Amino acid sequence: MYEKYTMHEIANKIKEKEVSIKEVLEDVYARIDEVEPKVEAFVSLTREYAYNRAEELQKKLDAGEDIGALGGVPVAIKDNMCMKDTNTTCSSKMLENFVSPYDATVVKKLEQAGAIIIGKTNMDEFAMGSSTATSAFKNTKNPWNLECVPGGSSGGSAAAVASNMGYASLGSDTGGSIRQPAAYCGLVGLKPTYGLVSRFGLVAFGSSLDQIGPFTKNVYDSALMMNVLAGHDEMDTTSVEYTVPDYTKSVGDDVKGLKVGVPTSFFKEGLPEESLQIFNNSVEVLKKLGCEIVEVNLDYAKYALPTYYIIATAEASSNLARYDGIKYGYRAKDFEDLQDIYAKSRTEGFGEEVKRRIMLGTYVLSSGYYDAYYKRAGQVRSLIVNDFKKAFETVDVIALPTTTGAAFKFGEKQSNPIEMYLEDIFTVPVNVAGVPAISIQGGLDKNNMPIGLQFIANNFEEEKLFKVASAYENATDFHKAQANI
Ligand code: GLN
Repeated sequence: MYEKYTMHEIANKIKEKEVSIKEVLEDVYARIDEVEPKVEAFVSLTREYAYNRAEELQKKLDAGEDIGALGGVPVAIKDNMCMKDTNTTCSSKMLENFVSPYDATVVKKLEQAGAIIIGKTNMDEFAMGSSTATSAFKNTKNPWNLECVPGGSSGGSAAAVASNMGYASLGSDTGGSIRQPAAYCGLVGLKPTYGLVSRFGLVAFGSSLDQIGPFTKNVYDSALMMNVLAGHDEMDTTSVEYTVPDYTKSVGDDVKGLKVGVPTSFFKEGLPEESLQIFNNSVEVLKKLGCEIVEVNLDYAKYALPTYYIIATAEASSNLARYDGIKYGYRAKDFEDLQDIYAKSRTEGFGEEVKRRIMLGTYVLSSGYYDAYYKRAGQVRSLIVNDFKKAFETVDVIALPTTTGAAFKFGEKQSNPIEMYLEDIFTVPVNVAGVPAISIQGGLDKNNMPIGLQFIANNFEEEKLFKVASAYENATDFHKAQANI
């Protein structure tokens, strides 16, 4: 009933007492009861916790207290973020029964801002994938077309918001896992600057690449979410000291004279005609808004994909070494000795894609191959960082398609890992460089499926992203189209 409202709008309605927090929550859970059997976006729901929070927050509100910018708003989080006393499975058999002993910093921040976490969402196992189909538990469907994947790895978080099971959600983006599912589900997805949002309590995949960010229905909500999530955290040594601005102030700013870089030589090759056409239309919209379009070169961006798949797998092989069946996680039933516990627990507890990544990562780190792969990937990474640095000397933001096309069907790319890895071609350069990027609804394809448009900015220039993304949103109607479910 309230599903047509954005996160900001429902927060205001709650504050104005036009609706009670409990009513909003009941409404969302009723929606979940109705569509979740079709979409399968959640691994677990936190109903009891949520209703208790609703009561607590309503009391505060009724007593005249400030309940925060997200006061009473139901949101979902990806199941790789720890929430005290709830399961955090990473959609893996390995962590199926793992109960978090503490809260991730983002969970604390959401709570401090008054949000109510309604459940944990499905994902590719340990965030490795682009379809959410490597989950050990279920296949999340794309709410726009149930035969299609929602994207990944944060597919559950995207599908939940796109089918109005929550007003916003959190995902994590190591190589595109927020932006690609946002693009496939017609949402706004932001990958913040590396170090802007704390990773404390996020189960690590590729530690030098991982960032947490929001999925929302519009750009304003994304900015509002970042007001809550951003900021230094002493529990994360890679978290940066930074004075967080009010991001919502950049929403709706004039973009006249804003320099938008377009790296044509990077994306032109291999981009299907229809996607190119949609992207060119987006560029025309930006021109009409008064943006200055500048051709930029990202000479090394074409090497970002192999660089990413070396660095990410190397870091994953190290991060996932802790799952040995001893302290926590899955333990094989029959074993002979310690070595056997390790081998059997890991063989049985991890899925195929995770094992593939561990093997690749172990290989590129092994003596004899380290210099040829891991060391070289680090060197190429510096060249990619420089590429972006140079580009941002002349332009404010860079525009790029988020993906090569719309959501694909189940089974289409699953049998060929390389084809699946190619999904990440336009998203991984951003993680390798550490810079922030946003994906918004850029257009619709001939089947009326959403197509993402990505903007990239220099480190800590999220404000420019919100500015240009909101200008595009205001000038077009694409974001008004919704999944019909
Ligand atoms: N699709 C990419 C991968 O499979 C990105 C995943 C992510 O960002 N977590 O590694």
